[in-house]
Amino acid sequence: EAAANRIAAGEVVERPCSAVKELVENAIDAQATRIEIAYADGGKTLIRVTDDGHGIAQDQLPLALSRHATSKIDGSDLLNIHTFGFRGEALPSMGAVGRLTITSRALGAESAAQIAVNGGDIEPVRPAALAKGTIVELRDLFHATPARLKFLRTDRSESQAIGDVVKRLAMAEPHIGFILRDVSGGGEGRIVFRADPCNGDLFEALHARLRTILGKEFAENSILVDAEREGMTLTGYASLPTYSRGAAVAQYLFINGRPVKDKVLIGALRAAYSDFLSRDRYPAVALFIECDPERVDVNVHPAKAEVRFREPGVARGLLVSGLRYALAGAGH
Ligand code: ADP
Ligand code: MG
Repeated sequence: EAAANRIAAGEVVERPCSAVKELVENAIDAQATRIEIAYADGGKTLIRVTDDGHGIAQDQLPLALSRHATSKIDGSDLLNIHTFGFRGEALPSMGAVGRLTITSRALGAESAAQIAVNGGDIEPVRPAALAKGTIVELRDLFHATPARLKFLRTDRSESQAIGDVVKRLAMAEPHIGFILRDVSGGGEGRIVFRADPCNGDLFEALHARLRTILGKEFAENSILVDAEREGMTLTGYASLPTYSRGAAVAQYLFINGRPVKDKVLIGALRAAYSDFLSRDRYPAVALFIECDPERVDVNVHPAKAEVRFREPGVARGLLVSGLRYALAGAGH
């Protein structure tokens, strides 16, 4: 059965950045308004995600660590990608490959509680001090599996990958505040990325967030895209031909809120700008496609950003025509 295969196929945590992604998505799912991510040594020795979301009830803590236990969907709903990720896989996977501690206080609870798991051994729940939300700490990723540790890249490039993941998630959630710190040196550490919560409707908030992430030049040289085709919608911002890049580094694409990398969509971007940009120039975009989850399979692999459209032609047509229409409206 396909759904079971997809789960079996996946190693959820391949690198520090995949753990960061899962933990931040959990914080988003918990309706956090501020999320702080700290890491040390490229995330290899420490990843800590702190949120102010609804928390986990004390009696649910052991459940959060058991395989396939999720509070988010029932088992028949694996295609639902409005909540993220592989259902109930992330925390148990992390508990199996590192030292994981969860401290949480559920909304309205009298006190906080903590649970720890190390190499798959779950310790009893104990009382803890925390005013609100959840702190998940993952230490010494892959300490028990040196073979996998060896596959990690330098601290510098793992840190870079964490930064990219956090920026993508911050783009998709402009109303949430994000702080990313490198605490390798101990203490408060160094702020690597900071995006305060953005106000206004989604377009206003997104524009403000893109100014923070992609810069003033992009914010002032981009246009709103808002298109629809056969029930699939495209919204976001795309650069004018007057602002382009020498590499495809600033092409951020999301399907139903989830960052993706997809050949069909990237090819469509190129096609949309083909009249304006030479082959060595790339537009910068932050574009969000929304469609019925049935029309796209984003769970091809849990840790990868690949997708499979049921009707690739519709997605491509939406991008090309939506972008050309927006560019034409801006006089191009
Ligand atoms: P999933 O997100 O697919 O449900 P996870 O293994 O990532 O699976 O998390 C297991 C469960 O733990 C979630 O369903 C949720 O109930 C709870 N949980 C995890 N992280 C948080 C968090 N930051 N805030 C509140 N609940 C959380
Ligand atoms: Mg999760």
